[in-house]
Amino acid sequence: MGTPLQVMKFGGTSVGNADCIARAAKIIAQGAKEGRCVAVVSAMSGVTNRLIEAAKTAQKGNGGGATAAMEALRAQHETALADLVTSQSERARVKYRLDAVLAEGMRFCEGTALLRELSPRTMDAISSLGERLSAPLVSAAVKELELQSEVVEATELIVTDEFHGGAEPHMERTRDKSQLRILPLLERGIVPVVTGFLGATLGGELTTLGRGGSDYSATILGAALDADEVIIWTDVDGVLSADPRLVAEAQTISEISYREAAELAYFGAKVLHPKTLRPVVQAGIPVWIRNSFAPEKAGTKITPQAQSIGGGVKALTAIRDVTLISVGGPGIVGLPDVVGRTFSTTAEVRANVLLISQSSSQNDICFGVSSADAQKTVEALREEFASDLAHHKVEHIRVDPHIAIVAVVGQNMCGTPGIAGKTFAALGKEGVNLIAIAQGSSETNISFVIEEQSVLPALRSLHREFGLHRSVNGVA
Ligand code: ASP
Ligand code: MG
Repeated sequence: MGTPLQVMKFGGTSVGNADCIARAAKIIAQGAKEGRCVAVVSAMSGVTNRLIEAAKTAQKGNGGGATAAMEALRAQHETALADLVTSQSERARVKYRLDAVLAEGMRFCEGTALLRELSPRTMDAISSLGERLSAPLVSAAVKELELQSEVVEATELIVTDEFHGGAEPHMERTRDKSQLRILPLLERGIVPVVTGFLGATLGGELTTLGRGGSDYSATILGAALDADEVIIWTDVDGVLSADPRLVAEAQTISEISYREAAELAYFGAKVLHPKTLRPVVQAGIPVWIRNSFAPEKAGTKITPQAQSIGGGVKALTAIRDVTLISVGGPGIVGLPDVVGRTFSTTAEVRANVLLISQSSSQNDICFGVSSADAQKTVEALREEFASDLAHHKVEHIRVDPHIAIVAVVGQNMCGTPGIAGKTFAALGKEGVNLIAIAQGSSETNISFVIEEQSVLPALRSLHREFGLHRSVNGVA
Protein backbone atom coordinates (compact mmCIF):
# COMPACT_ATOMS: atom_id res chain seq x y z
CA MET A 1 0.00 0.00 0.00
CA GLY A 2 0.99 3.59 -0.09
CA THR A 3 1.71 3.32 -3.80
CA PRO A 4 -0.16 6.11 -5.58
CA LEU A 5 -3.43 5.05 -7.16
CA GLN A 6 -4.82 6.51 -10.37
CA VAL A 7 -8.22 5.87 -11.86
CA MET A 8 -8.12 6.50 -15.61
CA LYS A 9 -11.18 6.79 -17.76
CA PHE A 10 -11.12 6.48 -21.53
CA GLY A 11 -14.00 8.00 -23.48
CA GLY A 12 -15.62 6.61 -26.60
CA THR A 13 -13.30 8.27 -29.09
CA SER A 14 -10.27 7.24 -27.01
CA VAL A 15 -11.27 3.60 -27.58
CA GLY A 16 -12.90 4.23 -30.98
CA ASN A 17 -10.89 1.67 -32.97
CA ALA A 18 -7.92 -0.69 -32.62
CA ASP A 19 -5.35 2.12 -32.96
CA CYS A 20 -7.04 4.18 -30.29
CA ILE A 21 -7.34 1.18 -27.98
CA ALA A 22 -3.65 0.41 -28.45
CA ARG A 23 -2.84 4.01 -27.56
CA ALA A 24 -5.07 3.82 -24.49
CA ALA A 25 -3.37 0.59 -23.44
CA LYS A 26 0.03 2.31 -23.62
CA ILE A 27 -1.21 5.10 -21.39
CA ILE A 28 -2.60 2.53 -18.94
CA ALA A 29 0.68 0.61 -18.98
CA GLN A 30 2.61 3.79 -18.24
CA GLY A 31 0.24 4.49 -15.33
CA ALA A 32 0.67 0.95 -14.04
CA LYS A 33 4.44 1.41 -14.14
CA GLU A 34 4.23 4.57 -12.06
CA GLY A 35 1.85 3.18 -9.46
CA ARG A 36 -1.45 1.41 -9.11
CA CYS A 37 -3.79 2.00 -12.03
CA VAL A 38 -7.47 1.22 -12.55
CA ALA A 39 -8.93 1.79 -16.02
CA VAL A 40 -12.57 2.62 -16.67
CA VAL A 41 -13.80 2.48 -20.25
CA SER A 42 -16.65 3.81 -22.34
CA ALA A 43 -18.17 2.02 -25.28
CA MET A 44 -16.41 2.52 -28.64
CA SER A 45 -17.66 5.83 -30.00
CA GLY A 46 -21.13 5.70 -31.52
CA VAL A 47 -21.89 2.25 -30.11
CA THR A 48 -24.22 3.39 -27.31
CA ASN A 49 -26.29 5.39 -29.80
CA ARG A 50 -26.53 2.38 -32.08
CA LEU A 51 -27.58 0.13 -29.20
CA ILE A 52 -30.32 2.55 -28.21
CA GLU A 53 -31.47 2.63 -31.83
CA ALA A 54 -31.47 -1.17 -31.93
CA ALA A 55 -33.56 -1.31 -28.77
CA LYS A 56 -36.10 1.08 -30.28
CA THR A 57 -36.14 -0.91 -33.51
CA ALA A 58 -36.89 -4.02 -31.50
CA GLN A 59 -39.64 -2.20 -29.64
CA LYS A 60 -41.37 -1.60 -32.96
CA GLY A 61 -41.44 -5.35 -33.40
CA ASN A 62 -38.54 -5.42 -35.84
CA GLY A 63 -36.42 -8.12 -34.26
CA GLY A 64 -34.51 -8.64 -37.51
CA GLY A 65 -33.38 -5.03 -37.58
CA ALA A 66 -32.11 -5.25 -34.02
CA THR A 67 -30.30 -8.50 -34.71
CA ALA A 68 -28.63 -6.94 -37.74
CA ALA A 69 -27.40 -4.08 -35.54
CA MET A 70 -25.94 -6.62 -33.09
CA GLU A 71 -24.19 -8.41 -35.95
CA ALA A 72 -22.67 -5.13 -37.09
CA LEU A 73 -21.35 -4.58 -33.56
CA ARG A 74 -19.92 -8.07 -33.56
CA ALA A 75 -18.05 -7.34 -36.77
CA GLN A 76 -16.73 -4.02 -35.46
CA HIS A 77 -15.43 -5.50 -32.21
CA GLU A 78 -13.99 -8.60 -33.84
CA THR A 79 -12.10 -6.46 -36.35
CA ALA A 80 -10.57 -4.47 -33.52
CA LEU A 81 -9.76 -7.69 -31.67
CA ALA A 82 -7.97 -9.14 -34.69
CA ASP A 83 -5.84 -6.00 -34.95
CA LEU A 84 -5.04 -5.86 -31.27
CA VAL A 85 -4.28 -9.40 -30.23
CA THR A 86 -1.72 -11.61 -31.90
CA SER A 87 -2.04 -14.84 -29.98
CA GLN A 88 -4.68 -17.25 -31.31
CA SER A 89 -5.64 -18.61 -27.93
CA GLU A 90 -5.97 -15.17 -26.37
CA ARG A 91 -8.07 -14.02 -29.32
CA ALA A 92 -10.34 -17.03 -28.90
CA ARG A 93 -10.69 -16.29 -25.21
CA VAL A 94 -11.73 -12.67 -25.80
CA LYS A 95 -14.01 -13.66 -28.66
CA TYR A 96 -15.77 -16.08 -26.35
CA ARG A 97 -16.46 -13.23 -23.97
CA LEU A 98 -17.70 -10.90 -26.74
CA ASP A 99 -19.96 -13.70 -28.02
CA ALA A 100 -21.47 -14.16 -24.59
CA VAL A 101 -22.25 -10.44 -24.24
CA LEU A 102 -23.69 -10.28 -27.76
CA ALA A 103 -25.81 -13.37 -27.17
CA GLU A 104 -27.27 -11.64 -24.13
CA GLY A 105 -27.94 -8.57 -26.26
CA MET A 106 -29.70 -10.68 -28.89
CA ARG A 107 -31.94 -12.20 -26.26
CA PHE A 108 -32.87 -8.78 -24.85
CA CYS A 109 -33.72 -7.55 -28.33
CA GLU A 110 -35.73 -10.66 -29.18
CA GLY A 111 -37.73 -10.32 -25.98
CA THR A 112 -38.34 -6.65 -26.67
CA ALA A 113 -39.46 -7.35 -30.24
CA LEU A 114 -41.77 -10.12 -29.08
CA LEU A 115 -43.48 -7.98 -26.46
CA ARG A 116 -43.07 -4.66 -28.30
CA GLU A 117 -42.27 -3.28 -24.94
CA LEU A 118 -39.12 -1.54 -23.81
CA SER A 119 -38.89 -0.84 -20.11
CA PRO A 120 -36.18 1.48 -18.73
CA ARG A 121 -34.66 -1.59 -17.15
CA THR A 122 -34.36 -3.38 -20.48
CA MET A 123 -33.06 -0.21 -22.10
CA ASP A 124 -30.27 -0.15 -19.50
CA ALA A 125 -29.41 -3.78 -20.20
CA ILE A 126 -29.16 -3.07 -23.93
CA SER A 127 -27.54 0.37 -23.88
CA SER A 128 -24.75 -0.78 -21.56
CA LEU A 129 -23.63 -3.62 -23.84
CA GLY A 130 -21.09 -1.32 -25.49
CA GLU A 131 -18.98 -0.98 -22.35
CA ARG A 132 -19.20 -4.71 -21.80
CA LEU A 133 -17.79 -5.19 -25.30
CA SER A 134 -15.06 -2.54 -25.18
CA ALA A 135 -13.63 -3.51 -21.78
CA PRO A 136 -12.43 -6.97 -22.92
CA LEU A 137 -10.68 -5.35 -25.90
CA VAL A 138 -8.91 -2.78 -23.75
CA SER A 139 -7.91 -5.40 -21.21
CA ALA A 140 -6.56 -7.63 -23.98
CA ALA A 141 -4.57 -4.70 -25.39
CA VAL A 142 -3.04 -4.09 -21.95
CA LYS A 143 -2.03 -7.74 -21.80
CA GLU A 144 -0.31 -7.37 -25.16
CA LEU A 145 2.05 -5.00 -23.33
CA GLU A 146 3.21 -7.78 -21.02
CA LEU A 147 1.03 -6.73 -18.12
CA GLN A 148 -1.60 -8.70 -16.32
CA SER A 149 -5.12 -7.40 -16.66
CA GLU A 150 -8.66 -8.43 -15.85
CA VAL A 151 -12.07 -7.12 -16.91
CA VAL A 152 -14.25 -6.16 -13.97
CA GLU A 153 -17.94 -5.52 -14.59
CA ALA A 154 -19.07 -2.43 -12.70
CA THR A 155 -22.15 -4.36 -11.58
CA GLU A 156 -19.71 -5.93 -9.12
CA LEU A 157 -18.55 -2.55 -7.82
CA ILE A 158 -21.03 0.29 -8.11
CA VAL A 159 -24.21 -0.08 -6.08
CA THR A 160 -26.96 2.28 -7.20
CA ASP A 161 -30.59 3.15 -6.57
CA GLU A 162 -33.23 1.79 -8.90
CA PHE A 163 -33.62 4.79 -11.15
CA HIS A 164 -32.91 3.16 -14.49
CA GLY A 165 -31.36 5.46 -17.07
CA GLY A 166 -29.92 7.83 -14.47
CA ALA A 167 -29.11 5.89 -11.36
CA GLU A 168 -27.32 7.38 -8.35
CA PRO A 169 -24.65 5.52 -6.41
CA HIS A 170 -24.80 4.43 -2.78
CA MET A 171 -21.29 5.49 -1.88
CA GLU A 172 -20.78 3.47 1.28
CA ARG A 173 -21.80 0.19 -0.30
CA THR A 174 -19.87 1.01 -3.43
CA ARG A 175 -16.82 1.69 -1.35
CA ASP A 176 -17.01 -1.67 0.41
CA LYS A 177 -17.56 -3.65 -2.75
CA SER A 178 -14.95 -1.80 -4.81
CA GLN A 179 -12.23 -2.10 -2.22
CA LEU A 180 -12.93 -5.76 -1.70
CA ARG A 181 -12.82 -6.54 -5.40
CA ILE A 182 -10.21 -4.13 -6.77
CA LEU A 183 -7.52 -3.76 -4.11
CA PRO A 184 -6.51 -7.45 -4.13
CA LEU A 185 -6.13 -7.31 -7.91
CA LEU A 186 -3.87 -4.27 -7.65
CA GLU A 187 -1.84 -5.96 -4.98
CA ARG A 188 -1.22 -8.85 -7.33
CA GLY A 189 -0.11 -6.47 -10.08
CA ILE A 190 -3.26 -6.99 -12.16
CA VAL A 191 -4.67 -3.96 -13.98
CA PRO A 192 -8.47 -3.91 -13.60
CA VAL A 193 -10.38 -2.66 -16.65
CA VAL A 194 -13.84 -1.65 -15.49
CA THR A 195 -16.95 -1.15 -17.62
CA GLY A 196 -17.99 2.51 -17.30
CA PHE A 197 -21.56 3.84 -17.41
CA LEU A 198 -23.19 1.05 -15.45
CA GLY A 199 -23.79 -0.25 -11.98
CA ALA A 200 -26.30 -2.47 -10.25
CA THR A 201 -28.96 -2.15 -7.59
CA LEU A 202 -28.56 -3.85 -4.27
CA GLY A 203 -30.59 -6.70 -5.72
CA GLY A 204 -28.13 -7.06 -8.59
CA GLU A 205 -30.27 -5.47 -11.32
CA LEU A 206 -28.11 -3.68 -13.90
CA THR A 207 -28.58 0.12 -14.06
CA THR A 208 -26.93 2.93 -16.01
CA LEU A 209 -25.77 6.28 -14.70
CA GLY A 210 -27.12 8.35 -17.61
CA ARG A 211 -25.68 9.23 -21.00
CA GLY A 212 -22.02 10.14 -20.86
CA GLY A 213 -21.96 8.60 -17.38
CA SER A 214 -18.64 6.83 -17.54
CA ASP A 215 -16.91 10.01 -16.31
CA TYR A 216 -19.13 9.66 -13.30
CA SER A 217 -18.14 5.98 -12.99
CA ALA A 218 -14.49 7.03 -12.84
CA THR A 219 -14.93 9.55 -10.04
CA ILE A 220 -17.25 7.23 -8.11
CA LEU A 221 -14.51 4.61 -8.22
CA GLY A 222 -11.83 7.21 -7.51
CA ALA A 223 -13.61 8.20 -4.33
CA ALA A 224 -14.47 4.61 -3.40
CA LEU A 225 -10.86 3.53 -3.73
CA ASP A 226 -9.34 6.66 -2.14
CA ALA A 227 -7.46 7.32 -5.37
CA ASP A 228 -4.80 10.01 -5.52
CA GLU A 229 -6.13 11.27 -8.82
CA VAL A 230 -8.65 10.61 -11.53
CA ILE A 231 -7.69 11.18 -15.14
CA ILE A 232 -10.36 11.58 -17.80
CA TRP A 233 -8.70 10.76 -21.12
CA THR A 234 -10.67 12.25 -23.97
CA ASP A 235 -10.20 13.75 -27.44
CA VAL A 236 -9.61 17.38 -26.51
CA ASP A 237 -6.67 19.04 -24.75
CA GLY A 238 -8.60 19.83 -21.60
CA VAL A 239 -11.17 22.36 -20.44
CA LEU A 240 -11.21 25.25 -22.88
CA SER A 241 -12.16 28.88 -22.41
CA ALA A 242 -14.97 28.30 -24.94
CA ASP A 243 -16.06 25.72 -27.48
CA PRO A 244 -13.30 25.94 -30.13
CA ARG A 245 -15.76 25.10 -32.89
CA LEU A 246 -17.54 28.33 -32.08
CA VAL A 247 -14.68 30.51 -30.87
CA ALA A 248 -11.48 29.89 -32.80
CA GLU A 249 -9.25 31.63 -30.23
CA ALA A 250 -10.37 29.39 -27.35
CA GLN A 251 -7.51 28.36 -25.04
CA THR A 252 -6.87 25.34 -22.83
CA ILE A 253 -7.14 26.25 -19.17
CA SER A 254 -4.31 24.72 -17.15
CA GLU A 255 -6.02 24.76 -13.79
CA ILE A 256 -9.59 25.26 -12.78
CA SER A 257 -11.59 24.75 -9.60
CA TYR A 258 -14.22 22.09 -8.96
CA ARG A 259 -16.81 24.82 -8.78
CA GLU A 260 -15.84 26.36 -12.08
CA ALA A 261 -15.60 23.03 -13.85
CA ALA A 262 -18.91 21.85 -12.44
CA GLU A 263 -20.53 25.07 -13.54
CA LEU A 264 -19.14 24.64 -17.05
CA ALA A 265 -20.20 21.02 -17.25
CA TYR A 266 -23.64 21.90 -16.00
CA PHE A 267 -23.91 24.59 -18.65
CA GLY A 268 -23.15 22.28 -21.48
CA ALA A 269 -19.37 22.18 -21.88
CA LYS A 270 -19.29 18.65 -23.24
CA VAL A 271 -15.95 17.80 -21.68
CA LEU A 272 -17.35 16.48 -18.38
CA HIS A 273 -20.55 14.82 -17.33
CA PRO A 274 -22.22 17.31 -14.96
CA LYS A 275 -22.20 14.91 -12.02
CA THR A 276 -18.56 13.97 -12.45
CA LEU A 277 -17.12 16.03 -9.63
CA ARG A 278 -19.68 15.20 -6.97
CA PRO A 279 -18.04 12.03 -5.66
CA VAL A 280 -14.57 13.55 -5.32
CA VAL A 281 -15.43 16.88 -3.70
CA GLN A 282 -15.36 15.61 -0.16
CA ALA A 283 -12.00 13.89 -0.48
CA GLY A 284 -10.57 16.69 -2.63
CA ILE A 285 -9.20 14.28 -5.24
CA PRO A 286 -7.86 16.16 -8.27
CA VAL A 287 -9.37 15.29 -11.65
CA TRP A 288 -7.41 15.74 -14.85
CA ILE A 289 -8.81 16.17 -18.33
CA ARG A 290 -6.25 14.99 -20.85
CA ASN A 291 -6.07 14.22 -24.54
CA SER A 292 -5.37 10.54 -25.29
CA PHE A 293 -4.38 11.59 -28.81
CA ALA A 294 -1.77 14.02 -27.44
CA PRO A 295 -0.66 12.57 -24.11
CA GLU A 296 2.42 14.83 -24.10
CA LYS A 297 0.15 17.78 -23.32
CA ALA A 298 -0.49 18.56 -19.69
CA GLY A 299 -4.26 18.97 -19.94
CA THR A 300 -6.42 20.68 -17.35
CA LYS A 301 -6.19 20.00 -13.65
CA ILE A 302 -9.43 20.38 -11.74
CA THR A 303 -8.63 21.01 -8.11
CA PRO A 304 -10.50 21.82 -4.92
CA GLN A 305 -9.27 25.41 -4.82
CA ALA A 306 -7.51 26.37 -8.06
CA GLN A 307 -6.13 29.83 -8.07
CA SER A 308 -7.92 32.04 -10.52
CA ILE A 309 -5.72 34.26 -12.59
CA GLY A 310 -7.09 37.18 -14.58
CA GLY A 311 -10.15 39.31 -14.38
CA GLY A 312 -12.51 36.86 -12.78
CA VAL A 313 -13.98 35.31 -15.90
CA LYS A 314 -12.44 32.01 -16.77
CA ALA A 315 -14.60 30.51 -19.47
CA LEU A 316 -17.80 30.78 -21.44
CA THR A 317 -20.20 28.11 -22.36
CA ALA A 318 -23.45 27.75 -24.23
CA ILE A 319 -26.19 25.18 -24.28
CA ARG A 320 -28.34 25.14 -27.35
CA ASP A 321 -30.57 22.16 -26.82
CA VAL A 322 -32.58 23.93 -24.17
CA THR A 323 -36.25 24.74 -23.98
CA LEU A 324 -37.64 27.65 -22.02
CA ILE A 325 -40.82 26.87 -20.14
CA SER A 326 -42.85 29.56 -18.48
CA VAL A 327 -45.69 29.13 -16.06
CA GLY A 328 -47.66 32.25 -15.42
CA GLY A 329 -50.27 34.86 -15.94
CA PRO A 330 -51.60 37.52 -13.60
CA GLY A 331 -53.66 34.89 -11.84
CA ILE A 332 -50.66 33.32 -10.17
CA VAL A 333 -50.01 36.41 -8.07
CA GLY A 334 -50.93 35.42 -4.58
CA LEU A 335 -51.00 31.71 -5.36
CA PRO A 336 -48.37 30.76 -2.83
CA ASP A 337 -47.66 27.25 -4.00
CA VAL A 338 -47.03 27.76 -7.71
CA VAL A 339 -43.27 27.84 -7.39
CA GLY A 340 -43.26 24.83 -5.10
CA ARG A 341 -45.57 22.82 -7.31
CA THR A 342 -43.71 23.78 -10.46
CA PHE A 343 -40.40 22.52 -9.19
CA SER A 344 -41.66 19.49 -7.38
CA THR A 345 -43.15 18.55 -10.74
CA THR A 346 -39.84 19.03 -12.55
CA ALA A 347 -38.18 16.97 -9.82
CA GLU A 348 -40.70 14.18 -10.16
CA VAL A 349 -39.87 13.74 -13.83
CA ARG A 350 -36.17 14.31 -13.05
CA ALA A 351 -35.96 17.14 -15.55
CA ASN A 352 -32.61 18.86 -15.67
CA VAL A 353 -33.45 22.47 -14.75
CA LEU A 354 -30.64 24.70 -15.95
CA LEU A 355 -31.79 28.18 -15.08
CA ILE A 356 -34.66 29.73 -13.21
CA SER A 357 -35.90 33.28 -13.33
CA GLN A 358 -38.91 34.90 -11.78
CA SER A 359 -40.02 38.46 -12.27
CA SER A 360 -40.80 40.43 -9.13
CA SER A 361 -44.39 40.97 -10.16
CA GLN A 362 -44.58 37.24 -9.55
CA ASN A 363 -46.67 36.61 -12.57
CA ASP A 364 -44.23 34.58 -14.53
CA ILE A 365 -41.79 31.88 -13.57
CA CYS A 366 -39.58 30.78 -16.39
CA PHE A 367 -36.96 28.11 -16.43
CA GLY A 368 -34.77 26.34 -18.94
CA VAL A 369 -34.62 22.55 -19.20
CA SER A 370 -32.70 20.26 -21.52
CA SER A 371 -34.83 19.88 -24.63
CA ALA A 372 -34.78 16.13 -24.14
CA ASP A 373 -36.71 16.69 -20.91
CA ALA A 374 -39.08 19.35 -22.28
CA GLN A 375 -42.00 17.23 -23.40
CA LYS A 376 -42.33 15.16 -20.26
CA THR A 377 -41.91 18.29 -18.13
CA VAL A 378 -44.64 20.22 -19.92
CA GLU A 379 -46.99 17.26 -19.85
CA ALA A 380 -46.41 16.83 -16.13
CA LEU A 381 -46.95 20.56 -15.50
CA ARG A 382 -50.17 20.61 -17.52
CA GLU A 383 -51.41 17.72 -15.44
CA GLU A 384 -50.32 19.30 -12.16
CA PHE A 385 -51.95 22.61 -12.99
CA ALA A 386 -54.95 21.23 -14.91
CA SER A 387 -57.55 22.62 -12.58
CA ASP A 388 -55.72 25.95 -12.13
CA LEU A 389 -55.54 26.34 -15.89
CA ALA A 390 -59.21 25.56 -16.20
CA HIS A 391 -60.03 28.19 -13.59
CA HIS A 392 -57.57 30.72 -15.04
CA LYS A 393 -55.52 30.93 -11.90
CA VAL A 394 -52.58 29.93 -14.01
CA GLU A 395 -53.10 31.33 -17.47
CA HIS A 396 -50.43 29.64 -19.46
CA ILE A 397 -47.69 27.11 -19.63
CA ARG A 398 -45.62 28.30 -22.57
CA VAL A 399 -42.78 26.58 -24.34
CA ASP A 400 -40.01 28.09 -26.44
CA PRO A 401 -37.57 25.61 -27.94
CA HIS A 402 -35.53 28.09 -30.00
CA ILE A 403 -33.40 29.47 -27.25
CA ALA A 404 -29.95 28.96 -25.81
CA ILE A 405 -28.36 29.57 -22.44
CA VAL A 406 -24.96 31.19 -22.26
CA ALA A 407 -22.98 31.18 -19.03
CA VAL A 408 -20.01 33.33 -18.05
CA VAL A 409 -18.07 31.35 -15.46
CA GLY A 410 -15.30 32.16 -13.00
CA GLN A 411 -14.85 31.77 -9.28
CA ASN A 412 -13.12 35.13 -8.92
CA MET A 413 -16.18 36.89 -10.28
CA CYS A 414 -17.39 36.70 -6.75
CA GLY A 415 -16.70 40.10 -5.30
CA THR A 416 -15.37 41.55 -8.56
CA PRO A 417 -17.79 44.30 -9.41
CA GLY A 418 -18.53 45.28 -12.96
CA ILE A 419 -18.52 41.88 -14.64
CA ALA A 420 -22.26 41.83 -15.18
CA GLY A 421 -22.09 45.38 -16.50
CA LYS A 422 -19.30 44.49 -18.92
CA THR A 423 -21.15 41.36 -20.02
CA PHE A 424 -24.39 43.06 -20.81
CA ALA A 425 -22.75 46.12 -22.36
CA ALA A 426 -20.83 43.85 -24.74
CA LEU A 427 -24.00 41.99 -25.64
CA GLY A 428 -25.89 45.24 -26.14
CA LYS A 429 -23.21 46.49 -28.53
CA GLU A 430 -23.56 43.23 -30.44
CA GLY A 431 -27.35 43.66 -30.66
CA VAL A 432 -28.05 40.46 -28.70
CA ASN A 433 -31.54 40.38 -27.23
CA LEU A 434 -31.71 39.05 -23.65
CA ILE A 435 -34.75 36.98 -22.76
CA ALA A 436 -33.94 36.11 -19.13
CA ILE A 437 -31.00 36.48 -16.78
CA ALA A 438 -29.87 34.59 -13.69
CA GLN A 439 -26.95 34.86 -11.33
CA GLY A 440 -26.55 32.49 -8.44
CA SER A 441 -25.66 34.00 -5.10
CA SER A 442 -22.42 32.01 -5.22
CA GLU A 443 -21.48 34.43 -8.03
CA THR A 444 -19.59 31.73 -9.91
CA ASN A 445 -21.60 32.34 -13.02
CA ILE A 446 -23.84 34.78 -14.77
CA SER A 447 -26.16 33.00 -17.13
CA PHE A 448 -28.67 34.32 -19.57
CA VAL A 449 -31.17 33.16 -22.13
CA ILE A 450 -30.92 34.39 -25.71
CA GLU A 451 -32.31 33.40 -29.07
CA GLU A 452 -30.50 30.47 -30.56
CA GLN A 453 -29.12 32.41 -33.50
CA SER A 454 -27.40 34.89 -31.18
CA VAL A 455 -25.08 32.32 -29.61
CA LEU A 456 -22.13 32.89 -31.95
CA PRO A 457 -22.01 36.69 -31.73
CA ALA A 458 -22.59 36.50 -27.97
CA LEU A 459 -19.73 34.06 -27.33
CA ARG A 460 -17.28 35.78 -29.66
CA SER A 461 -17.86 39.23 -28.27
CA LEU A 462 -17.62 38.07 -24.65
CA HIS A 463 -14.50 36.03 -25.31
CA ARG A 464 -12.88 39.19 -26.69
CA GLU A 465 -14.32 41.42 -24.00
CA PHE A 466 -12.81 39.36 -21.20
CA GLY A 467 -9.51 38.79 -22.98
CA LEU A 468 -9.86 35.01 -22.82
CA HIS A 469 -7.75 34.55 -25.95
CA ARG A 470 -4.72 35.80 -24.02
CA SER A 471 -2.73 33.68 -21.61
CA VAL A 472 -4.42 35.19 -18.58
CA ASN A 473 -6.18 31.96 -17.88
CA GLY A 474 -3.24 30.21 -16.46
CA VAL A 475 -2.67 28.71 -19.88
CA ALA A 476 0.21 26.25 -19.86
N1 ASP B 1 -21.26 5.00 -23.54
C1 ASP B 1 -22.09 5.83 -22.73
C2 ASP B 1 -22.66 6.96 -23.57
O1 ASP B 1 -22.31 7.13 -24.70
C3 ASP B 1 -21.39 6.35 -21.53
C4 ASP B 1 -20.18 7.21 -21.83
O2 ASP B 1 -19.64 7.19 -22.92
O3 ASP B 1 -19.76 7.91 -20.92
O4 ASP B 1 -23.51 7.66 -23.09
MG1 MG C 1 -19.83 8.32 -25.00
